[in-house]
Amino acid sequence: MNRVLVTGGAGFLGSHLCERLLGEGSDVVCIDNFFSGHKDNIRPFVAHPYFELIRHDVIHPLFVEVDRIYHLACPASPIHYQMNPIKTVKTNVMGTINMLGLAKRIRSRILLTSTSEIYGDAQIHPQPESYWGNVNSIGLRSCYDEGKRVAETLMMDYHRQNKVDIRIVRVFNTYGPRMAVDDGRVVSNFIVQALRGEPITIYGDGSQTRSFCYVSDLIDGIRRMMDQEATIGPVNLGNPGEFTILELAEKIAKMTGSRTKFVFKPLPSDDPVRRRPDISLAKAKLGWEPKVSLEEGLARTIEYFKETLSTRNRT
Ligand code: NAD
Ligand code: UDP
Repeated sequence: MNRVLVTGGAGFLGSHLCERLLGEGSDVVCIDNFFSGHKDNIRPFVAHPYFELIRHDVIHPLFVEVDRIYHLACPASPIHYQMNPIKTVKTNVMGTINMLGLAKRIRSRILLTSTSEIYGDAQIHPQPESYWGNVNSIGLRSCYDEGKRVAETLMMDYHRQNKVDIRIVRVFNTYGPRMAVDDGRVVSNFIVQALRGEPITIYGDGSQTRSFCYVSDLIDGIRRMMDQEATIGPVNLGNPGEFTILELAEKIAKMTGSRTKFVFKPLPSDDPVRRRPDISLAKAKLGWEPKVSLEEGLARTIEYFKETLSTRNRT
């Protein structure tokens, strides 16, 4: 049986990955410190006989015997990773060293979920993996952006120096069910605001762009990356459809049938102006591209939040 460790397994992406791996017949060990994840995310499969949960912080060493490590542990929403920026750096640096040390010791393959944030406020569009990025090293987002850049460096150095078998994916904005109601990222914020009849908060003038990938597509990409031999990465994973934040707000307002107003708030510092993945490498090396359209993905996500908010109101 394939024994798999998922760090950050109680988070948004981690919980979907654990569920997929259990469905494929793997024996899954999930570790999480519940900084931004929640037990509700793993509730659907917590009683599965091949699922095991360990409350653990990756900044401390851990020893478990597994065949594969998916290293996701790190808050991903700007409000979460900026809440305790020093901890965010520690999670990325010490956490990745600990997981690489484990991979080296037990000779297991390790995959890191890096991020499109390593491209910063990109000067090249769309962003290919060969682009080195434009990141502010001293800004409010740096704890995450630079933390992930060091995590990538550590992955490559453990690979070159210690022959650790690595895979790196750079994840672009991904959304779907199990994002937290108070997650703070744009898709969940807009849907929750629209469903509650609260004003939709647009930062800046809403002309900045993002590309939104539905969670099931992203998990497919991660699974393909882990199981293939052709490339260690980094490989971009994301949906190349590009939308302004204003377009997203209009779409969500229409799909929820909400008559809510838009309010414009100051743009957070270092907020990237344009973002869209070049996924040529993922197509060529993994035979992967997203299948779920934004409308379809938003419809499923809106259903999830309707159910979640109505359950909250009942209790
Ligand atoms: P999330 O915040 O929902 O999940 C992260 C999980 O890691 C949470 O369960 C959290 O409690 C856990 N965690 C944080 N610090 C930890 C620590 N020190 N020790 C143990 N557990 C810890 O975020 P997500 O969207 O699921 O992101 C998962 C991974 O994917 C992250 O590495 C993130 O950087 C990367 N990523 C996500 C996106 C996206 O759009 N969702 C985009 C780019 C990169
Ligand atoms: N954003 C917004 N309103 C919100 C939340 C986010 O206008 O309530 C904007 C944010 O400024 C950014 C984009 O939406 O330009 C995506 O933000 P998110 O936090 O989801 O992810 P990012 O790509 O910035 O890490």
